Amino acid sequence: MQKSLEDRAQSARAVRTTCPYCGVGCGVIAARRADGSVTITGDPEHPANFGRLCSKGAALADTLGLEGRILHPLIDGTRASWDEALDVVAARFSGAIAEHGPESVALYISGQLLTEDYYVANKLMKGFIGSSNIDTNSRLCMASSVAGHKRAFGADTVPGVYEDLECADLVVLVGSNLAWCHPVLFQRLSAAKEARGTRIVVVDPRRTATCDIADLHLPIAPGSDVALFSGLLVHLAERGYLDQTFVETHTSGLDAALSAAHALSRDRLVRLTTLSPELIAQFYDWFSTTERVVTVYSQGVNQSSAGTDKVNAIINCHLATGRIGRPGMGPFSITGQPNAMGGREVGGLATMLAAHLDLENADHRRIVQTLWQSPRIAEKPGLKAVDLFQAAADGRIKALWIMATNPVDSVPDADRVREAIRRCPFVVVSDIYNHTDTATLAHVLLPSTGWGEKDGIVTNSERRLSRQRSFLPPPGEARPDWWQLAQVARRMGFARAFAWSSPAEIFTEYAALTGVANDGARDLDLGALAGLTAADYDALAPVQWPVPAGKVTAGPKRFFADGRFFTPDARARFIATPYRPPAAQPGERFPFLLNTGRIRDQWHTMTRTGRAARLMSHRSEPFIDMHPADADRRGLRDGAIAEIESERGRCVARVRVDSGQRQGEVFLPFHWTDDVARHARVDVLVAPVTDPVSGQPELKATAVDVRPLRLSWHAFGVMLGKPVLPSCAYAVCAPIPSGWQIMLAGADDLPDAESVVKRLMDDLGEGCEQLAYHDRGRGESRRALFKENRLIGAFFLARTEPAVAHQWLIELLGSEIPVPERLSVLAGRPGGPQREKGPIVCACFAVGRSEIIEAIVRHGCRTTADLGARLQAGSNCGSCRPELGKLLHEARLAHAG
Ligand code: SF4
Repeated sequence: MQKSLEDRAQSARAVRTTCPYCGVGCGVIAARRADGSVTITGDPEHPANFGRLCSKGAALADTLGLEGRILHPLIDGTRASWDEALDVVAARFSGAIAEHGPESVALYISGQLLTEDYYVANKLMKGFIGSSNIDTNSRLCMASSVAGHKRAFGADTVPGVYEDLECADLVVLVGSNLAWCHPVLFQRLSAAKEARGTRIVVVDPRRTATCDIADLHLPIAPGSDVALFSGLLVHLAERGYLDQTFVETHTSGLDAALSAAHALSRDRLVRLTTLSPELIAQFYDWFSTTERVVTVYSQGVNQSSAGTDKVNAIINCHLATGRIGRPGMGPFSITGQPNAMGGREVGGLATMLAAHLDLENADHRRIVQTLWQSPRIAEKPGLKAVDLFQAAADGRIKALWIMATNPVDSVPDADRVREAIRRCPFVVVSDIYNHTDTATLAHVLLPSTGWGEKDGIVTNSERRLSRQRSFLPPPGEARPDWWQLAQVARRMGFARAFAWSSPAEIFTEYAALTGVANDGARDLDLGALAGLTAADYDALAPVQWPVPAGKVTAGPKRFFADGRFFTPDARARFIATPYRPPAAQPGERFPFLLNTGRIRDQWHTMTRTGRAARLMSHRSEPFIDMHPADADRRGLRDGAIAEIESERGRCVARVRVDSGQRQGEVFLPFHWTDDVARHARVDVLVAPVTDPVSGQPELKATAVDVRPLRLSWHAFGVMLGKPVLPSCAYAVCAPIPSGWQIMLAGADDLPDAESVVKRLMDDLGEGCEQLAYHDRGRGESRRALFKENRLIGAFFLARTEPAVAHQWLIELLGSEIPVPERLSVLAGRPGGPQREKGPIVCACFAVGRSEIIEAIVRHGCRTTADLGARLQAGSNCGSCRPELGKLLHEARLAHAG
């Protein structure tokens, strides 16, 4: 297997594949040069991105190194053969089922998996083990959208297509920082706005980078979206904007929905949302009077204890106006994960069966069981993510298999999740990296193939299936996830049903299932793909479903233009959505409301993006955004280190004072883990509160306190190798182009710089020259280390933050430094005309904030295009353009002032 894959990769010069990060699902072309290096470009023919990429996609080649990869199966930390490992997994799962029943085992999988992996996992669990205890990290991402769709449409159907964003006259973005979380869609929307003047409304408590293109920003109180859209429904009804014909012919339940919405007085609506009546009126007027409206929503809506109601409150307004299924109209859920949609299709959630068939429907179960020829079939929903780890904690789960995800960092109440996994008698982890906080807890660790090595299909947010294709050989003994699952299934006695030899065979089986007894009765139909040969599958171009056998049509595929839905009477359902506040409210002990989310250049728990120095250059440390007045009130200045505490846990982060933050609310990105930081796992703070319908956790409303962390010393260093983080109050490391940077702070006695350096850097030794400066009175120490004239490390320790030029030192590391210039390294600042470029804004061309400000102030740059022409900033992936716009705006304000 290894040899043939190597041969294939050698001959494959350029391969069309799909980005493994967000749900936009951009096509990329990966080209492998003769020296083995890989270049990544956007695929100009892919209908999701037409050649565009964001900073994460553009940096994919930087994440392909083998450092930290699991190369062989491990049993209790000891290398084992695949046979030994698979035998153990099968025996322990079979043993638990025999002794405690099928509900005693569970799979926790991931939106990173390919559709074929997902399909095999679901088939094993629901059809052969006979339990629905299979859930996925997509539960944390978009389960509320699934539940909302099913309640309104009778099926988990995304009605629209990306083109709708380009032909709408009004786009409403609710709980969606599109600029950072779905950057290529943001680029498409920005271009549409420029071309045709699309109006854009952003509904978000924070003034995010997305607001850069907004005509109206509604800084809504967290969790009050239901109130805002209920008020809109009332407004539409009272002002005569209902599409009476559509409502009467194609829907039911409007009266109940309106009566629940009416229960909220206008005064209460204003109080709950904290929006001015004028802002609300403006939004309602634009929505009412614009026919082509798309409402895009993502995690700000879904990750809530009222997430499903929020989804339905939005859908209600589109149903009331009949604006669904036609060009430029409709509610549009944008998924976070690359294959969250594929997981939904095959049934990779505890609440679904497979192929959009229902667990609770006997006819549907019969269809699936017949095609699978399975001995049993699960009949009821299984444990959803949060409940699954609770069941592990209280001993109900005896064997747990975690694939391609890191729940120790990403599931709420993360410390208890870690403890639950520790307590579980048998834990299997399939992953590509050995250093994740979850992988370290595995009894059996299985090496999976990663992006670039595996083959299969992913579905993006507009229902478009695209191939992920391999262009690299799998390292060591890594194997695809579907293969691992099938091998275990065979050993559990299910050989015949898991006999595939390729992902193509799995996919065609799944495609066939979607077409059984369908004939338009169900939305998901891939019948036309059921007969693909291996060669067809290999060459499959991106295709949007539905693609029923014999009825494939060209062009974008929207649902519901005919007013027929997938409910028993074909009518859409209005859902009554009485307002419920978030479960937690700020109080005396925890006076701030914490919102968690993503940042521009990172993905999930940074296992992949955290390896790329250029992606780490934008935000290198865990941070907390606070309104200036809150920071002031708490005695915190910009750049200070704060401790954040909830009733569940505690973490630390650096303060960023941000006037885009509402007073009384703070924002923490969730990416940092124990692998690269101490005390920075944000989900230790979050309570395991979930939406009662979808089971999705409330990740955006946790009551916390924020205080200055009392510190007595600070340090900064750069070094060639990854440092082992010391145990101190604050410790973070991040890759830089030639090595690593480290930021430390402590609350104890000033440590001895020499011994800290020795612990951090293992390449000191023969031939290492050290320049040192020590001021005992001021408690200041500096070290610069050289080997063969190259700078191999520098370390600065002081009672306050060492006043050194971080970016300059980062760029100096590894380079030759003539003897006369070495003292400036010890000084930590460039001598002569060189300047510190400041924190990096444009990751593609490493352009720093100070350089940009200088270009604006001294060289007269007035637009992002000017900055691109002078510094290249923003001229590649475009992800930094909103930030460039903000700097230009601030400079204009300063000039005007
Ligand atoms: Fe990848 Fe960026 Fe496209 Fe998302 S928007 S799929 S992260 S390139």
